[in-house]
Amino acid sequence: MDIIDFANIPCTSDALEYLRKLDIGSNDLCTQAVFESIRLTGKERVLEAFKDGVLKYRRFNKLAAEKELLAYPIARIIVSCINNNYLTKRYALAVAKSSYEHIKDLKSAVLLKELAADFGINIRFDDMMNVSMHFTDYIQCVHVLHDPKWKMLNRTVKQGTLMISRDDLARLMEEVVRQKVESGLPHEVPKDIQMALEPYIAEVREIIYTRTSKQGFRKEGFSEVIPDCFPPCISTAITDVQANVNLSHTMRFAMTSFLLNIGMAPDNVTEIFKASPDFKEQATSYQISHINGASGTTYTCPSCATMATNGNCPGKSMCNKIENPLVCHRRKVWVQNRRRETR
Ligand code: SF4
Repeated sequence: MDIIDFANIPCTSDALEYLRKLDIGSNDLCTQAVFESIRLTGKERVLEAFKDGVLKYRRFNKLAAEKELLAYPIARIIVSCINNNYLTKRYALAVAKSSYEHIKDLKSAVLLKELAADFGINIRFDDMMNVSMHFTDYIQCVHVLHDPKWKMLNRTVKQGTLMISRDDLARLMEEVVRQKVESGLPHEVPKDIQMALEPYIAEVREIIYTRTSKQGFRKEGFSEVIPDCFPPCISTAITDVQANVNLSHTMRFAMTSFLLNIGMAPDNVTEIFKASPDFKEQATSYQISHINGASGTTYTCPSCATMATNGNCPGKSMCNKIENPLVCHRRKVWVQNRRRETR
């Protein structure tokens, strides 16, 4: 891979190595006047991710690509310092989408294999350039992709291996990039670096806080319920949906049942899912009315124990002795009402 690849897929080990070899200290990058345009580019990328969900800039020459790659750690520092769930997810998704655009145009089998190996995926090409991979690698990548075409049932597995198209490979790698970028954010930022980047951070923060809530998600469309009182698991799920991140099946069920259980209208729940990358109005409405009792059983939001088992609880420590997200919500509403009465 070369610098153009690194600038387009900046989360690879080789891109990191390239940055190391440039031997520019993070202090210099964040403070020296000569790097001002790189800091501005880093800030611009964060704002693009936040506003548009994509990084618009395409890099085609070495100089521009190097600048872009250097702007990547700056953007990560800004995202880390702001530490807003919604922004983090939006940024990771934007880097992933931009990487996808580049990966789908890569022609070299050697390069694609190298890239996949860097992401922990072992792929093979046959003489016709068809891609095959082990089903365990496949499952690891597709678990949050809901379109039926990704289901194992719709793939032919032979001796533990399945075939995928080149475009599907690019899409799988997009998902790996998203997870990789997101899992490393926010990271620790030394105080002096935070101070050096404060003007950029403040500018981004101001734009973000005019559009999102402290909880990290936009509150429009929740008129009949109180989003301030949502438990962390549900706030996180809504943040994910609004940031165009696919939810797992279990989290979708939990979020839907929770919102219906607290009295949200099914149509408004459907509206929330509209931001999902794989949104299909008819299927979503059907699932929501099914959970809401259309077939005779009204489902209740799963318990915290089930949420934790399914990996949907962002941290039990955030909730005090809670057994169900609905109880958490009820307590918060009670506390809020008490405060109002006292006032
Ligand atoms: S403890 Fe329960 S209510 Fe709190 S975040 Fe976890 S699942 Fe949600």
